[in-house]
Amino acid sequence: MEIRNSLWYTITMKTEILEMRDASFSEEDMQRAGELIRNGELVAFPTETVYGLGGDALNKDASGKIYAAKGRPSDNPLIVHIAEFSALERIVKSVPKKAKQLAEAFWPGPLTMCFYKSDVVPDETTGGLPTVGVRMPNHPVALGFIKAAGGYIAAPSANTSGRPSPTLAEHVYEDMNGRIPLILDGGAVGIGIESTIVDFTGEQISILRPGYITKEMLEEVLGEEVVVDPAVNGVSKDAKPKAPGMKYRHYAPKAELYIVEGRTPTQVAEKMAELAKQALATGKRCGIMITEENFTAFSGLKAEEGLILKSLGHEGDESSVAKALYRVLREFDEEQVDIIYSEGFGESGVGQAVMNRLIRAAGHKIIREASYNEEKG
Ligand code: AMP
Ligand code: MG
Repeated sequence: MEIRNSLWYTITMKTEILEMRDASFSEEDMQRAGELIRNGELVAFPTETVYGLGGDALNKDASGKIYAAKGRPSDNPLIVHIAEFSALERIVKSVPKKAKQLAEAFWPGPLTMCFYKSDVVPDETTGGLPTVGVRMPNHPVALGFIKAAGGYIAAPSANTSGRPSPTLAEHVYEDMNGRIPLILDGGAVGIGIESTIVDFTGEQISILRPGYITKEMLEEVLGEEVVVDPAVNGVSKDAKPKAPGMKYRHYAPKAELYIVEGRTPTQVAEKMAELAKQALATGKRCGIMITEENFTAFSGLKAEEGLILKSLGHEGDESSVAKALYRVLREFDEEQVDIIYSEGFGESGVGQAVMNRLIRAAGHKIIREASYNEEKG
């Protein structure tokens, strides 16, 4: 069941954007942002993964405002962002040695770790869970902001619930204008998809959400196997995800989105061109998400007939796909396409995180070209 927060925002306020690009900001501006947080208000800020919607993590009313501004289900916990490792001790019961190893290797960076929380963290921040997810972001604006705000910022992605996460300050403005007083504009984010979430509260260390830090990278540091929560990528339909947010429809564009898979990128591109042709013939506006190397398959189709072709980075470079993904989904919303076909990607390395987001954005709708089906039986 989806529990929506009843406090949906109706009040409108003026939303200001403070430019802090190229990591340059004045101490005065940062203190102003910090003061808003200390007064219980919300401020959106850039991180290296996506933009966050920040509030004081130790103030239950601020957490309540975050759920309301996003329309986020109240059982979906917020990640607490810190700027110094020493800040961790106060908000968790204990830090296992293995977690320290991961922090040393990957913090500041796109890794969230879940621990049993201490009493200073309100239940409102953790969606009622006895555990808390913590991350130290690798972005100078985020780190300066967390320090100015008192050290503990609860922040989910700064989109309205269900929409693609924001990778530009403009995306935050689209979703949060009138709901929050301030957005810190750090320009385009570097990574483009959310952090890897690793759980330290179960029998085994496990990945609850794949991200830029891959299973292989974690295993190399830990020297042991890390399991992936069976609910990731819907491996098991009955599995209940340990990260509550993973059960909600997410990252979705307004148009119907289908993933197309096949044996080779060329075959996929040809299949996508065939599907696009059919959609255009029925008068639909059709969006195509594909790596640049495969644009040629569409050379016979025309933009005037309603085809919009967008580059999803480069073939074999999943990091470039991660960076473009949410922006492209939002652009298709603006351009009001009726149907979108996206190339599918390999699941190695960052590809697993990319496919996790894409599969959920598509609501699990996957088309396989014929020869691939035959091969798979
Ligand atoms: P977002 O900040 O929008 O990327 O969402 C945060 C994600 O982290 C959601 O999927 C949450 O369910 C997950 N998360 C946050 N805290 C915890 C926790 N204590 N235990 C498990 N999952 C968590
Ligand atoms: Mg989110």
